[in-house]
Amino acid sequence: MKKLLLISGPCSAETQEQVFRTAEGLKNIGADCFRAGLWKPRTRPGHFEGVGDEGIAWMKRVKEELGMRICTEVAFREHVELCREAGFDMVWIGARTTANPFLVQELADALKGSGMSVLVKNPVNPDVNLWVGAVERLRNAGVEDISVVHRGFSSYEKYKYRNAPGWQIVSEFRTKCPDIPVLCDPSHLSGSAELVPEVCQRAVDLGYDGLMIESHCNPSEALSDAGQQLTPEAVGLLLHNLIRERRAIDDVDSGKVISNLRNEIDAVDADILKDLGRRMEISRRIGDYKKSNNIPVIQSGRWGEVIRAASAEAKNYGLHEDFVKSIFSIIHDASIEEQN
Ligand code: PEP
Ligand code: MN
Repeated sequence: MKKLLLISGPCSAETQEQVFRTAEGLKNIGADCFRAGLWKPRTRPGHFEGVGDEGIAWMKRVKEELGMRICTEVAFREHVELCREAGFDMVWIGARTTANPFLVQELADALKGSGMSVLVKNPVNPDVNLWVGAVERLRNAGVEDISVVHRGFSSYEKYKYRNAPGWQIVSEFRTKCPDIPVLCDPSHLSGSAELVPEVCQRAVDLGYDGLMIESHCNPSEALSDAGQQLTPEAVGLLLHNLIRERRAIDDVDSGKVISNLRNEIDAVDADILKDLGRRMEISRRIGDYKKSNNIPVIQSGRWGEVIRAASAEAKNYGLHEDFVKSIFSIIHDASIEEQN
């Protein structure tokens, strides 16, 4: 069983005492690396934007007195320079920054030869190539120790988690960059302390290489992301409860059961595609009729009816209403596109 890397610490460094108390707790549970945001990218202005340069000395103290590795977020060349001078072991590129190739290039140039490890969070938008591109820019600049962090993707539709997980995007990433270790950040992905453990378990089941978990000595008082932080003790308990060795899928028995179920799924998927094809064909016929009779493509009332009927029907099949609404909105958009 490979060792799971644990990076943990508060969303933001707030005070010297908060940083040190949290780090001590995390050292006790065996965390490998201490994280804390100094320069915080907030979606809207007017919120706590980090203590900035002042927190560097607090982080250095964690490294010197507790012997932990230290890590923070960098967005500009100046951040990288300050971190390098202070002896940071690792930095991360945040999700909003990964989405911006200009900034990633600036960081890659600054990180060259710095000796610091670099974590690249997935971009906020679900675009695997932006993520791969950021890794390539770092690699091309000669940065050697690169890992990525899966923290979920922004989406307009809100479902269970703060960010849409997009597990399949990570698997595409792994296919494109098989030698890059992948960590999961269940805190930003789920957005809620109660949901962090289940996301960690999923990441472990998928063979991720590590976890970056937000932890605060007093979560409810945190100045940023209060709802998603765990105490160091709760992180310790979570790790203890993780099931590290699920039975390998190539066990003879589980292999058989799973492959039978997968066959069933494949058959259902084939039916779904056939039905979608039929639906689209009908939609095309409607489109032709509308065109030849000068009727506009969109009738807003009709879309409301489709959604109402689908949501009601969803309940009969034990399907989540939001899930069905999202699927039907994609189908509807494709249909409109076809009729245009
Ligand atoms: C963070 O880790 O504190 C952070 C801001 O993350 P992200 O870039 O994933 O939102
Ligand atoms: Mn945070």
